[in-house]
Amino acid sequence: MLKAIKIVLVGTSHPGNIGGVARAMKNMGLAELCLVAPRAQFPHHEAVLRSVGATDILDNAKIYDCLEDAVADCTLVAGSSARSRHLPWPLLNPRQLAERLEQELTHSEHRIALVFGREDRGLSNEELHLCHLHVHIPCNPDFSSLNLAAAVQVLTYELRMAVLAAEEKQTPSKTLPFGTEWDTPFANGETLEHFFNHLERTLIDINFHNPDNPRLLMSRLRRLYMRARPDTIEMNMLRGILTLTQQAANKNAATKPPESN
Ligand code: SAH
Repeated sequence: MLKAIKIVLVGTSHPGNIGGVARAMKNMGLAELCLVAPRAQFPHHEAVLRSVGATDILDNAKIYDCLEDAVADCTLVAGSSARSRHLPWPLLNPRQLAERLEQELTHSEHRIALVFGREDRGLSNEELHLCHLHVHIPCNPDFSSLNLAAAVQVLTYELRMAVLAAEEKQTPSKTLPFGTEWDTPFANGETLEHFFNHLERTLIDINFHNPDNPRLLMSRLRRLYMRARPDTIEMNMLRGILTLTQQAANKNAATKPPESN
C-alpha cells in the first residue's frame, strides 16, 4: 500500500539529506524516490553514506527537470511546507493527511506524491500550486523549519501508523489486552473472584485486614489487580504466594506462646 506513494524532493542542495530521506523512507516501508533538479551531482557518496544501507532506494531514484513532470502520473499531490503562504490552500497536518491518504490508497489505481522543498527556500508558489493540498508539521512557530529528512520521517511515520491501524481494524486480534499482543489467556471472572477471596482471607490471617473495619482496602487492591489485567499464569503464581503466606502465618501462630495477661 505504502509503495503507491512517492517522495519527491525538489532542488535539494545537500546530497546527505537525500541519503537521510532514503533511510527514513525505507524505515517506514516506502520505496519510490524522485529528485527534481537536485543541486549537487547525483549519485553522490555522501547520499550513500547517510542512507545507511537504503541504497536500493537511491539506485532506483528517478530524476526529473521539473516538478510538473515528476507528478504527472499522480492522482493526488501533497506539498509540504514549513511556512504559510499568501493564498490559502487546503492545509492539513501530517495525521490528517495520513487519514486522507489511507482512504485514497484503497483504490489501486491511485498514485500519490508527497513533495518536499529546498533546504533554503522550500517550494516556490508555482510548485505549491501544482499540489492538491498542503501539509504543515505543527511545530514551534518561532522555529518551524525541520531538516528535510526529519520532515519526511514525520510524514511517512504518520502514514505508516494510519496504514497499520487500518490493517488492525480488518483483522482484530482475539487476545488484545490494552492494545498489545499477549502470550497467555487472561484470567476470567471466576478465577479473579477466587483470587480476591483468597487474597482477603490471607490478609485477615496476617492481620493486615480487619473485616470489621474494612475501609476501602479490598476495593483498592481490586482496582490495582484489575488495572494490571492478570493472565492465568500470573494468577497461579499469586495464588501460590498466598497459600505459602497463609501457611507461614499459621505456623507462626502455632509456635507463638499464648499471650499471658
Ligand atoms: N527554509 C525553508 C524550509 C526548508 S526545509 C522555508 O522556509 O520554506 C525543507 C523542506 O522540508 C520544506 O520545503 C518542507 O517540504 C519540509 N519541511 C520542513 N519543515 C516543515 C514543517 N514544519 N512542515 C512541513 N514541511 C516541512
